[in-house]
Amino acid sequence: MLEIKKYQFWFCTGSQDLYGDECLAHVAEHSAQIVAGLNASGKLPFEVVLKPTLITSELIRKTFNDADGDPCCAGVIAWMHTFSPAKSWILGLREYRKPLCHLATQFNVEIPYDTIDMDFMNENQSAHGDREFGHVFTRVAKNRKVIFGHWADARVHAELAAWMRTAVGAVESNAVRVCRFADNMRNVAVTEGDKVEAQVKFGWEVDAWPVDGLVSYVDAVTPSEAAALTDEYYELYDLVLDGRDPAEFRRHVEVQAAQEIGIERFLKEHGYQAIVTHFGDLGGLKQLPSLSIQRLMQKGYGFGAEGDWKTSAMDRVMKVMAASVPDAKGTCFMEDYTYNLAPGAEGILESHMSEVDPSIAATKPAIRATPLSMGDREDPARLIFTSHAGAGIATSLIDLGERFRLIIAEVDAKHMEKPMPNLPTGTVFWNPRPNLKTGVEAWIHAGGAHHTVFSFDLTAQEMVDWADEMGVESVVIDAGTTIRGLRYELMLGAAAYR
Ligand code: MN
Repeated sequence: MLEIKKYQFWFCTGSQDLYGDECLAHVAEHSAQIVAGLNASGKLPFEVVLKPTLITSELIRKTFNDADGDPCCAGVIAWMHTFSPAKSWILGLREYRKPLCHLATQFNVEIPYDTIDMDFMNENQSAHGDREFGHVFTRVAKNRKVIFGHWADARVHAELAAWMRTAVGAVESNAVRVCRFADNMRNVAVTEGDKVEAQVKFGWEVDAWPVDGLVSYVDAVTPSEAAALTDEYYELYDLVLDGRDPAEFRRHVEVQAAQEIGIERFLKEHGYQAIVTHFGDLGGLKQLPSLSIQRLMQKGYGFGAEGDWKTSAMDRVMKVMAASVPDAKGTCFMEDYTYNLAPGAEGILESHMSEVDPSIAATKPAIRATPLSMGDREDPARLIFTSHAGAGIATSLIDLGERFRLIIAEVDAKHMEKPMPNLPTGTVFWNPRPNLKTGVEAWIHAGGAHHTVFSFDLTAQEMVDWADEMGVESVVIDAGTTIRGLRYELMLGAAAYR
């Protein structure tokens, strides 16, 4: 399991001193109760930390500066208890760089009809303060999430939890370093991109390394280390020998075990959380990293095949975002392969030549060692399995030359109708929303790639919010998509993001 930092979110209440100290004492008390309630809900993946009530420009600016400087703070939740004149927020907002959520809530649920007077109204005027605060954000064109509803409402907790995941994805994006052991596959367009612009937009550091620099790490793994890890594999997974001699089969597996150890050592020593390989550029590696890469993906490393560094980085970002989802069903690198066009059983068979992330496996994976039918190396040992069923999203980050676009499709993963005994790969089978025809046409119009990051655990809204935070275009294909509507949206995006 991927372990991520125990981030905190600061809860900052806006008010002013117009109504006296007693009012401010109530404001602080209410804020403390809300923070305690949010933390006690058990629904938020990260802790909310109460900060002093903000009433002056100096304190607001200092608080935002401190939030930026605190490596444990992943964002600020702002609440307007009373009317907080928003000019006092401008200097702080101009400098603030982390995600911000405007929690448009109020302390009480109901208007106290029998007792309400002007003192109560002046003290409890979130409806008033929300508008002043929202206005200045709009005026300075600052991205923020707006969540409206009572703070004790389960829907608000769910939306706050989702935003927290997005915020951590945005903050952690700046820590993603991708190690490229090969360039992009020759002549392939969709895996290409501007690495400098990716660093500007997403904070990703994308470096190339000669594959033989990796080979020396793999070769340095001792036979006993490889044998011990292979023993672990044999405990965890079934074996499908396909008529191979068991000793010869085990030798294929040990090659992958040495790769897992060697590659992980390289990545750790050099500070990388994501990796790309290319079946056509393997240097001294005996096999295409397959089982080894599958295990590293399951540990939380991002991966993209054929030099696809954009997908590798997205894989890492989305794994980090999904790491705080309870009972997660998996987030992984994936590839569109083959349609089933039979009426009533439509869908797309998703897989890869061998590097399919067992994070999504519904069955106990089995090891097979079969030919790749591509490249010129020995048969790589790999894990095969079928995935969970259920709703998920597939995302594709593309480079359109003058900008990035994140395409997000809602899909329904289904159990395979029949086993596929001759297909030696992990698979998932899904049907895009609203249906195969519109979903595929929309994906093609939007320019989506064949490589995706698929997740059972994240939502389209979370990815839209992440793209907003990064300042890039996002396009959603879901149950409400029509081709005419989508093409109009793409046309607007082309004008807005140019
Ligand atoms: Mn591929």
